[in-house]
Amino acid sequence: MGKIAVVGTGPYGLIMLDHLVQKYTNAEELEILAFDPAGPGGQVWSTKQDGAVLMNSVMEHVTLFAEHPLIKSSERPSLYEWSKQQAPDFIKQYVEENQEEFLTQAASLKRNDCCQRRFYGLYQQWFILNLKSNLPENISLTFYQEEVEDLIVEEQITIIAKENHLVDRVILATGHADNELTETEQQLQTFAKEQQLTYQPPKNPAKVSLENILPQEDVILRGLGLSFFDYVALLTKHWGGTFIEEAGELLYQPSGKEGKMILGSGRGLPYHARPVNEKLAGEDAQPQILTDERIQQFQPGEAAEFFDLLKKEAELVYYEKKLADTSIDIAEFLTAYRKEDRNDVLDRFQVPEELRWNWDALVNPGKEVEAQDFPAFVPSYMDNDIKEAEKGNLSGAVAAALDAMKELQMPVHKMIDQRAFTAKEYWEELWGDYDPTYGFLTVGPPVLRMKQLAALTKAGIAIFLAPNMEVEGVEDCFVAFSKQNNQVTYKAKHLIEARLPTTSYRRTLNPLIRALKDRGYLAPDIVEFDGEKHESGALRVERSTHRIIDQQNQTLDNLYCYGAPLAGFDWLNASSPRPKNADRIFQVANQIVQTIYQQ
Ligand SMILES: Cc1cc2nc3c(=O)[nH]c(=O)nc-3n(C[C@H](O)[C@H](O)[C@H](O)COP(=O)(O)OP(=O)(O)OC[C@H]3O[C@@H](n4cnc5c(N)ncnc54)[C@H](O)[C@@H]3O)c2cc1C
Repeated sequence: MGKIAVVGTGPYGLIMLDHLVQKYTNAEELEILAFDPAGPGGQVWSTKQDGAVLMNSVMEHVTLFAEHPLIKSSERPSLYEWSKQQAPDFIKQYVEENQEEFLTQAASLKRNDCCQRRFYGLYQQWFILNLKSNLPENISLTFYQEEVEDLIVEEQITIIAKENHLVDRVILATGHADNELTETEQQLQTFAKEQQLTYQPPKNPAKVSLENILPQEDVILRGLGLSFFDYVALLTKHWGGTFIEEAGELLYQPSGKEGKMILGSGRGLPYHARPVNEKLAGEDAQPQILTDERIQQFQPGEAAEFFDLLKKEAELVYYEKKLADTSIDIAEFLTAYRKEDRNDVLDRFQVPEELRWNWDALVNPGKEVEAQDFPAFVPSYMDNDIKEAEKGNLSGAVAAALDAMKELQMPVHKMIDQRAFTAKEYWEELWGDYDPTYGFLTVGPPVLRMKQLAALTKAGIAIFLAPNMEVEGVEDCFVAFSKQNNQVTYKAKHLIEARLPTTSYRRTLNPLIRALKDRGYLAPDIVEFDGEKHESGALRVERSTHRIIDQQNQTLDNLYCYGAPLAGFDWLNASSPRPKNADRIFQVANQIVQTIYQQ
């Protein structure tokens, strides 16, 4: 093996570099090249971005280091451990901009805090420096702060950047990209230009300028997920208001420059807040039913049973907490619940109706609410959500159950790997149903953000629409309404699509991916059933190796892909890995590296 290049040094590219180094056992020389115009840490975690945007994961649960049998864990610290051990020296030596502020953060951040996104960017810069200074003698690593413009794939690969480089293998870890606008987005954009309004298509909020929003002007935000919560922070900062705590409640003190935030989405409700963390690294929920042995028994056609049991895993965690203070024999109850019909067990143990787990109430909390009552219902939803999240992911029954659901990812990966879903089940039940439900229940904002939103609602600044939001350009402004209640409309000059661009093979604006498509190297990932083809948005790769499959259906032995361009193919492939955990992200990195080294 001679030369290997990694394109993109966001978290995935960095993890790949570490795996390339740690798994290399050959005595021959190995040259590793890494490219990213944004520098190590990449775009999402840029150390130059606004400090208002936070990570959504707590520091205790973020790492770039997979467990290593021979290296002391103190040399492979999690983000939290790094902040206390290596960060102060690194910041003093290498960080000029905002040095004092970063030093204060390193000293004050606690294990269960969500740090600024740019603070995680510092950890990533240190990570590559640390990797470089601990390289074995036969490995070199050169970082080029450059964009790779094109690749020519022959027996070897020519990398076209500022200069050309001839290498043996390339791993694409090019991450998130903006997209060409959809037809609807294009129409809204054109309308905005004609009427001198602002239309912001999906984009990383930290890269969006809010300068066009003048004092007292209203803003329509479409989407109530994680990007939306970034806008909550960025808009209030833009307006200059502050959040204060009074008698245990967070309140918003306006600056006087605020307009209204008109909020909505399909579901009409913000994602559930993440439970306050009480778990140490590695203290993840373990499957009680879906053991490896049980998963191996699944055959295509049994997805409904699999997902039902996956839900039962969360229910078990819930009942263990919820029934702890009752006269019910918990051990006996849980044994029965694992094996038998849930309702039979609940009836037999006389579990009162109000203590029973209710998926529908969590997944569709506003189902019974009339459209005209919906805006008034949202604050009670948020209050309840905050209360449940604050009970903590070990102490609170609902919080612990949702956290278990979040952590039980491996059964899903195993089902995918052993091809235990039919194509239809994979498309409709995993991607169409479980994935969005999982997102709404478990990938929400830190509690602080939900409290801020509640405070803005109380202050009359955040205004919610009923579900099924629609926005149209009418006369000289945008008009937002709910399709369930189109009598109530709100006008504004600014419309923000408060969500990230989806991974899209067809619409990506990443110039390298486009160039490789034009060369025929890249093809769309397709799921086919009932005579119909569905594009997931991901690039096409071989599942067992992550080698690229080209437009001729040929596997390219020397070109690999990993990370965000595979969203829609690899489940949950765009979050930071957790320490002391057989994290999927590490598994895939390992798989790629092993394939390369065994070739
Ligand atoms: C706004 C935002 C917030 C997020 N917040 C969280 C969070 O709080 N917690 C969490 O766990 N996850 C979060 N995520 C998920 C995120 O996907 C992952 O944490 C992680 O950033 C994915 O890593 P990546 O390396 O695949 O992609 P990226 O981080 O996108 O990095 C890819 C890099 O590739 C580079 N690149 C692209 N093309 C080329 C080229 N041609 N040549 C050279 N370099 C190139 C880019 O410059 C970029 O730096 C967030 C994502 C976004 C977009």
